[in-house]
Amino acid sequence: MTEQKAIVTDAPRGGVKYTSIDLAEPEHYDAKLSPVYIGICGTDRGEVAGALSFTYNPEGQNFLVLGHEALLRVDDVKDNDYIKKGDLVVPLVRRPGKCVNCRIGRQDNCSIGDPDKHEAGITGLHGFMRDVIYDDIEYLVKVEDPDLGKTAVLTEPLKNVMKAFEVFDVVSKRSIFFGEDSTLIGKRMVIIGSGSEAFLYSFAGIDRGFDVTMVNRHDETENKLKIMDEFGVKFANYLKDMPEKIDLLVDTSGDPTTVFKFLRKVNNNGVVILFGTNGKAPGYPVDGEDIDYIVERNITIAGSVDAAKIHYVQALQSLSNWNRRHPDAMKDLITYEAKPTETNIFFQKPHGEIKTVIKWQ
Ligand SMILES: [Zn+2]
Repeated sequence: MTEQKAIVTDAPRGGVKYTSIDLAEPEHYDAKLSPVYIGICGTDRGEVAGALSFTYNPEGQNFLVLGHEALLRVDDVKDNDYIKKGDLVVPLVRRPGKCVNCRIGRQDNCSIGDPDKHEAGITGLHGFMRDVIYDDIEYLVKVEDPDLGKTAVLTEPLKNVMKAFEVFDVVSKRSIFFGEDSTLIGKRMVIIGSGSEAFLYSFAGIDRGFDVTMVNRHDETENKLKIMDEFGVKFANYLKDMPEKIDLLVDTSGDPTTVFKFLRKVNNNGVVILFGTNGKAPGYPVDGEDIDYIVERNITIAGSVDAAKIHYVQALQSLSNWNRRHPDAMKDLITYEAKPTETNIFFQKPHGEIKTVIKWQ
């Protein structure tokens, strides 16, 4: 048994504490690791609030270690050609089950769902907010760029964006989506929300040539507007200024009322990516005109969750590019660094939050 400090909840009931736990060393592992930075997001907060009924503790245990947005240091590793002691790595969140998609490294597209696959810190597998982590090399992605620093903790949230663009690439081929000049320049992408995922979606959209606008129903902080401005992203408070003629709509809110308000502004052959989830959001009465609108314009609505290992690799490449061009703006995405003892950050978002991280060591 390894006694160690960890941040735990009791899934799906909730609660949070920084406490000592005992975990058995697994029979087989390639690497021994420890956290450097771990991000926290709406999922962690939902778990602590007891709002996520799909979460559960590992089998036979009465607690779940939190944390899935991890940047880890390799403390010890068996002989191999990929990682060595001292490297920084990002661990995969979702671990494969036995279905056909899981067997080809695409557990993000698991054909069965729970309990076929598990997610660290969310469903049936301990997360990374603990002093000692054992893992296999196949589930670790190396941070190659030494200049990334703590920005590498954004790999996990960004990998979701990379997968969503893969989904966009597939579904947008129903018709000709790009312009007559063969590019996406001038095509309008609107992102609902202005949290960390919305920022990462907006940067990835800019890279592809989209005219990108982030929207929310309030004005935004100076720090957020400055970062958007650096990247060429626009912002609209949609209560005052509603964007029209949208080619790609991405929702990070999970709120059906907001989604349908914007869906009715999507162009012919437009694509809607649903990414945000909020099981507590109030219902929206979909009427015949809503359905008509979607059908008559060949609009594709696609859900996108999680990502494959390839998307972690792509995320690290994008982070390196962005960090070279806008190093200060990238650092400003991390708006608060907490100590592991500051468990109040699971209940209360620090003001102006983009990404709150826990600095573990
Ligand atoms: Zn599966």
